[in-house]
Amino acid sequence: MIGEVKVYLRFLKDVVGIEYMRGAEDNKKTESLQELKREVEECNRCPLFRTRTHVVFGEGNEDAEIMFVGEAPGREEDMSGRPFVGKAGKLMDEVFEKIGLKREEVYIANCIKCRPPENRNPRPEELLMCFPYLERQIEIIEPRTIVCLGKFATQQLTGSMLSISILRGKTMRYRDVTVIPTFHPAYLLRNPQAIDAFKDDLIKAMNI
Ligand code: SF4
Repeated sequence: MIGEVKVYLRFLKDVVGIEYMRGAEDNKKTESLQELKREVEECNRCPLFRTRTHVVFGEGNEDAEIMFVGEAPGREEDMSGRPFVGKAGKLMDEVFEKIGLKREEVYIANCIKCRPPENRNPRPEELLMCFPYLERQIEIIEPRTIVCLGKFATQQLTGSMLSISILRGKTMRYRDVTVIPTFHPAYLLRNPQAIDAFKDDLIKAMNI
């Protein structure tokens, strides 16, 4: 029912140009996210809780139509408690600016909420333990589209084990949400020739 109301409100906004006011349902959303954040901040389900400085829960627009899901916090993110604030995040911001997308319009989170030591890849058991938090974030935010940044997010949400170079450019699903798999911004730092493809993927997500 809530999903149908949301679709109707989006219709009013997109087609008729009427934007709805934040109401009781939205306050409930804020409360649910805050409650979940408190839970994650106390989490010790996997060994990563021992080495984290801060939990990086995620941030952004709670009514976002586009949600970005990355892999795990890096050093800067662990220090600040905020997602994508290092070099990769700055590159992503530059691409956002070029295509007219604002950070405050989207929601950004990671599969893993605590930094793996030395930025190693997340382990399967860590991904498994942390996934329910991401699932609940998605349930609360109800985005129209999820942009998966890199193979871990794509594998986690779509179940596909194919490489990101094969999946990139396809349109996939997570439950009833459209998934756009694309490169992780850290990959773009090493492979700037892939930035145009990344930009195209983001424009595709904006047009859905
Ligand atoms: S990575 Fe996730 S599951 Fe592991 S301690 Fe942090 S919040 Fe908990």
